[in-house]
Amino acid sequence: MGLVIDASYLAAAILFIVGLKRMSSPVTARRGIVWAGLGMLLATLVTFGTPELLESEHFVTNLSLILAGIAVGGGYAWISGKRVAMTDMPQMIAMYNGMGGGAAATIAAVELLKASEAGGGAEAYLGPDVAILAILGALIGAISFSGSIIAWAKLDGRLHLSRLLPGQHIVNALLAIVLLLFSVMLYFTTDLTSISIFFGLALVLGVFITVPVGGADMPVIISLFNALTGLAVGFEGYVLGNAAMIIAGIVVGSAGSLLTHLMAVAMNRSVANVFFAGVGTGPASTDSGPGEMKEIQAQDAGILMAFANQAIIIPGYGMAVAQAQHKIWELVQLLGERGVTVKFAIHPVAGRMPGHMNVLLAEAGVPYDMIYDMEDINADFSNTTVTLVIGANDVVNPSAKTDTTSPLYGMPILDAMDADNVIVIKRGRGAGFSGVENPLFFADNTRMLFGDGQKAASELIQAVKEL
Ligand code: NDP
Repeated sequence: MGLVIDASYLAAAILFIVGLKRMSSPVTARRGIVWAGLGMLLATLVTFGTPELLESEHFVTNLSLILAGIAVGGGYAWISGKRVAMTDMPQMIAMYNGMGGGAAATIAAVELLKASEAGGGAEAYLGPDVAILAILGALIGAISFSGSIIAWAKLDGRLHLSRLLPGQHIVNALLAIVLLLFSVMLYFTTDLTSISIFFGLALVLGVFITVPVGGADMPVIISLFNALTGLAVGFEGYVLGNAAMIIAGIVVGSAGSLLTHLMAVAMNRSVANVFFAGVGTGPASTDSGPGEMKEIQAQDAGILMAFANQAIIIPGYGMAVAQAQHKIWELVQLLGERGVTVKFAIHPVAGRMPGHMNVLLAEAGVPYDMIYDMEDINADFSNTTVTLVIGANDVVNPSAKTDTTSPLYGMPILDAMDADNVIVIKRGRGAGFSGVENPLFFADNTRMLFGDGQKAASELIQAVKEL
């Protein structure tokens, strides 16, 4: 039986890794999710057959509660996963992430309570190395749990706080020191009060760390909490001697760390700067740019595009909001029939998660060979008749290159302004996610096509068809 269980956990681990590998390309990503999901299903089912569980009287008496929990959690996740809008995906990830951290912390809490019932510290009950991992997993899991919930609330527009206390970062540092002291104490001695204070403080620290982070940086924080949750799950997997948890935790931990690093590099920021800079926490600037925005009507914009040699389309978060990808692809096909070379330029942090734009364009049927990464296309803008920016803002903001005082300074951007003409589709005159004014919209060669992305794309299609 033991061999079957170990082999099944190994199979589940292989499914996780193959799934993750497949998620690295939009072509295979959907199947990757299914592979990883099958791995999770297998690992869950196998756990029900482990001798430790079957022999435990708690398992038998609580079986109906466990099954009810799985049914409620699984049912809720199934329905919300089916209904969630693409634009709300980061919030959903934050929430799932938090649940993973909370689950890891709960496992640790149970082990620490058992140690307290046995009348000693974690070390005496679990052994030295397991005790360290159990306490670390508890700390990281609890911080990740409350931090992820705050990240969810901020991204979902339910929480607008950027500061809780004066000298917040100092308070956080002091809290972290107190938590470390408590961790050492739990290693040697445990009781209900110290365990409760320990978890209470860890939850508070998760909140305190996340509240000051800027809205524009929230996806990075979610990815970081994802990595931490993976680590916590891996540690608690070691505590329970569960191979599938250890491997899944390591896979999630390393994938989350790499993603965090990639996002920080794409914004030319350090992870520490993401935590402390508060980008997007200031008041959003409005129509106060250098000069005036010049408008264009869809008909004139359509003519400009139809007679272009080359057009580059830059999608951003607004295209996701407007769900304009299908109309944009229809427009591109029409332009292609007229002999216009059309390319898509994707910034690594366009939208609200890495790959956001690629997924939307793939969904609309845009061939992958029309989609270019920033570093592959930036030199091409100077040979381009017209750049169409649809719902992108921060990722085309030239102040990231020119204004040393801008919070975006140093972030690599798409050089949209190098084209002969720039057409920007957006609904109004407001700033992007970071709240920073965009001088591109005021440039001599830029024309603003105001309106919802989908409606504006439909009008462009009509204009090109009428030629
Ligand atoms: P932004 O959020 O900067 O701008 C989006 C623009 O879309 C807004 O200016 C808005 O203007 C417009 N818009 C909104 N709804 C519509 C609509 N229905 N139709 C037309 N336009 C619309 O988007 P970007 O993609 O340029 O930048 C992404 C931001 O997210 C960056 O700040 C990046 O650092 C941040 N970020 C992204 C991560 C990622 O992984 N992708 C990770 C971390 C951060 P208006 O309201 O006037 O319509």
